[in-house]
Amino acid sequence: MRKIVIAGNWKMHKTRGEALELVETIRKGFKDNGEIKVIVAPPFTSLLSVSEALKDSTIGIAAQNMYFEKEGAYTGEVSPLMLKDVGVHYVIIGHSERRKYFCETDENVNKKIKVALEYSITPILCIGESLEERKGGRTFEKVEKQIEFAFKDISPENARKIIVAYEPIWAIGTGETATPEQAEEVHSFIRKKIAKMYGNNVASYAIILYGGSVKPDNAFSLMRENDIDGVLVGGASLKGDSFLEIIKAGIRVSGGES
Ligand code: PEP
Repeated sequence: MRKIVIAGNWKMHKTRGEALELVETIRKGFKDNGEIKVIVAPPFTSLLSVSEALKDSTIGIAAQNMYFEKEGAYTGEVSPLMLKDVGVHYVIIGHSERRKYFCETDENVNKKIKVALEYSITPILCIGESLEERKGGRTFEKVEKQIEFAFKDISPENARKIIVAYEPIWAIGTGETATPEQAEEVHSFIRKKIAKMYGNNVASYAIILYGGSVKPDNAFSLMRENDIDGVLVGGASLKGDSFLEIIKAGIRVSGGES
């Protein structure tokens, strides 16, 4: 049985004080019944404060990026060792904004995933097609290639630890969401691809999130789909009340009370 995962990507938002305020609202409002996993991804500058604030909570902490070396002359980068040191459990890798603005390549994504796993940090791998690729009928081809690159030389034992987030680029921050049917079609394709690479067992446990303008009013219908195991939320995770509504939708989907 796969757990529903609700992750909030705060991107380059929130000073330390604002981050603590938001995390306190989430901590107070989230009644964990063991059915879902909630994760927040603050900017680097707030990771330590947020991890201290969540010390006695089940809410997981993610970084939004990481370098693939342990240490060295890499000005401006942050290593997996440093993330572990401040209490990080997850790391978002290959977000489309990093691919677009910071030259993140499929090769780097693969290296980062391997290193994250080596340090027992769970990677949240982001993949997804552009509007042009969707219109040109190349969605599956794009997603398939990204999966093949990202999982290159990764053992089945490690593959099962990777969370995949399908985030169609045209739906990120645009207010345009994939319909549950559009998203499910790609999620089911991703699961089948993982099954081809690693077998049915690994695929049946793989957690595949949807991301792209998820809001309180569409979260439930997306997560109700068979192969959508949760959501990666950008804009709507920046306010405690909307993120808590999405969490409640996750609890309802998992069959719990909210
Ligand atoms: C994201 O950046 O991962 C994202 C899904 O953003 P938004 O929810 O704002 O579209």
